[in-house]
Amino acid sequence: MREHARAVTPPDNLPLRIGKKKTMAAGIPAVTSSLKHGLQKMGVTRTLKTLTMVNQLDGFDCPGCAWPDPSHRTQFEFCENGAKAVADEATKARVTPEFFSKHSIQSLAEKSDYWLNKQGRITHPMLLKNGESHYLPINWEDAFELIASKINEAKNPDRLVFYTSGRTSNEAAFLYQAMVRSIGTNNLPDCSNMCHESSGKGLGGSIGIGKGTVHLDDFNHAEVILVIGQNPGTNHPRMLTALRDAKKNGATIVHINPLPEAGLERFKHPQDYMKMDFSSTQLSDFHLPVRIGGDAALLKGFIKIHEEIGHLDTDFIQRSTSGFDEMMKNARSTAWETITSDSGLSHEQIVEVGEIIARSKATIACWAMGLTQQPNGVAVIQEVVNLLLMGGHVGKPGAGLCPVRGHSNVQGDRTVGIWEAPPVAFLERMEKGLNIPMPREHGFDVVRSIQAMRNGIVDVFFCMGGNFISATPDTNATAEGLRNVGLTVQVSTKLNRSHLVTGKTALILPCLGRTERDMQASGQQFVTVENSMGIVHMSKGTLEPSSQLLKSEPWIVANLSERLFPESVIDWKALTEDYDAIRELMEQSLEGFDNYNERVRRENGFLLPNPPRDSRTFSTPTGKAHFTTHELPNVSLDSDQYVMMTIRSHDQYNTTIYDLNDRYRGISGNRRVVLMNALDMADRGWKNRQVVSITSHFDGKQRTAEHWQLISYSIPRGNVATYFPEANVLVPLESTAKISNTPTSKWIIVTLSEATSDDFGDEQE
Ligand code: SF4
Repeated sequence: MREHARAVTPPDNLPLRIGKKKTMAAGIPAVTSSLKHGLQKMGVTRTLKTLTMVNQLDGFDCPGCAWPDPSHRTQFEFCENGAKAVADEATKARVTPEFFSKHSIQSLAEKSDYWLNKQGRITHPMLLKNGESHYLPINWEDAFELIASKINEAKNPDRLVFYTSGRTSNEAAFLYQAMVRSIGTNNLPDCSNMCHESSGKGLGGSIGIGKGTVHLDDFNHAEVILVIGQNPGTNHPRMLTALRDAKKNGATIVHINPLPEAGLERFKHPQDYMKMDFSSTQLSDFHLPVRIGGDAALLKGFIKIHEEIGHLDTDFIQRSTSGFDEMMKNARSTAWETITSDSGLSHEQIVEVGEIIARSKATIACWAMGLTQQPNGVAVIQEVVNLLLMGGHVGKPGAGLCPVRGHSNVQGDRTVGIWEAPPVAFLERMEKGLNIPMPREHGFDVVRSIQAMRNGIVDVFFCMGGNFISATPDTNATAEGLRNVGLTVQVSTKLNRSHLVTGKTALILPCLGRTERDMQASGQQFVTVENSMGIVHMSKGTLEPSSQLLKSEPWIVANLSERLFPESVIDWKALTEDYDAIRELMEQSLEGFDNYNERVRRENGFLLPNPPRDSRTFSTPTGKAHFTTHELPNVSLDSDQYVMMTIRSHDQYNTTIYDLNDRYRGISGNRRVVLMNALDMADRGWKNRQVVSITSHFDGKQRTAEHWQLISYSIPRGNVATYFPEANVLVPLESTAKISNTPTSKWIIVTLSEATSDDFGDEQE
């Protein structure tokens, strides 16, 4: 029996440095940081080559977030975190068979996620045999043989689970879902189950499409922009350029977030220096430090004020919506005492901003995890929709709903079929296009996949990218599940913890990255992605692959499918000789991809249909947009309890830790920290660097993680913040949002106690 590898990243144990929080984003520090990462990891030539090709028309799409590219690109069309993502993928560091021969998975697991990521690109397919502790090289044929045999051995297809990370291209994701559905299951969990699933479900129920309704240009015409539960300065940095331009056009920006994020205070566009413009722009006009979970109450307050002030788009409400009266009746009956105590904001604060929103002729609402990862994530997003429908802020210039996706193609993956619960119409169209029967029974999302693994009913767990063990909640519980699985397969670019916490047998299949040239029989190929605003566009890598043994994701899926379905009606291998063939199949199987190969080659690609945005029409059962009515969530706490939210540092992208410097918050060196309100600390007699244990409480169960250092920070009383993936061990698997089943990483009830040991143990009682 193999000794278990540690599932929770150990700290880097560098001294914790607590500096001053920044009040301005980007500027020269962003340039120096981008260059530092580039030169350290790629050297001069690759840095120049990649950073002049990223997000360019004939270049590759940034492997970072899904913020759209402007139609007129600048020469350097990237942000600091985009530069880090590129440097990370195009690094010269290599993880070779020799590396694996020197390091057992147990010894590697004692290294931090930051250290693991720094080791670089994996060069060979690798096999971890059952009971062994060292990976050995394996060739592609034997790897496919092993996977196909395990898949064919499974008693039924629902004992097989196929996960997708949001970086997977449209072509790879389409082939992947076709392969999985050909096997006979809809077990297609993906990273959006953990991030914007609440947006998809909320918007789908309200306006008939699970996507945002704005164009990038709408920011230039907005009167009011709400940025709710989102930290664009770190997670979607080029959004700051759109906010700056909106500001210059007179927009009022409202920042709603428990934390005062530098990215929404002031912004200095680094390229302005080249124009000898040294000024910076104040972005948000208002920061409302709402208590965690208090957004729904705040939005109800805005809705009440909107009615009182008037400026309702009554014509739109009467003609195009339903449910207004009931929604308003509920809002009217919600007491201001409840609204102010739940939100932690004063009546004056809410009225001042509420009146500006009510009078706005064009309002955009943007949001991210701060809303989606709440127990009432779907409901609070529908409250945002309620507020905007009151003013008719859908399908008109300068207005709309804007969930900002954090992964470059997470929206595209869902569009092309990475969906565990697709509607019948979607499957029927796919069936017609592929001429293959599609399973109807809905599959497992991420949380249900983990529960199935824990129940020992998963034989093969296949991951297209990602770092599952670090991205998911309840780390130790997830690890137990993974160890139950017969075979785990990771299609990856770089080393991460999911290569160490595996099934009994494990495979790593190293793939090409976005930055790398993809040569197939017909020549160099490009792939396509879809950004947060529904634009499908090309991405073509330019670098020589990091190893001659790397394969593209479409090639991996096609060759495995060839082995699984030798009699298939689909000529899988032919599809990878020229990806135009894949896109032709997509054109036949998906809505909105007509004339795909021609349109995607146009400058800036093409827009997918979006009825609310395009024609103010709503594909809901009633054909109308729905006002929805929701009770406020219970946000009360016992006196010794706090609400914890997990957050990213500025030197991190999802679970990838680029470095240990959360520059904007003035925190560096150590990530095992708790941001806490100074008055709350004083009440406990605690100071900065006080070492504490955190215990989360859910459904009568407790999870404790030791050895966190406190940092006094501007956060509402009763709220604390920690970084993920470190704090994911405290997020209960069963603590999920209603309807979307998204883990509630932004709402975890915890207690803090002075640490009893120096060890940073993490256990569950
Ligand atoms: S904003 Fe997002 S997509 Fe754009 S360069 Fe930065 S990380 Fe990449």
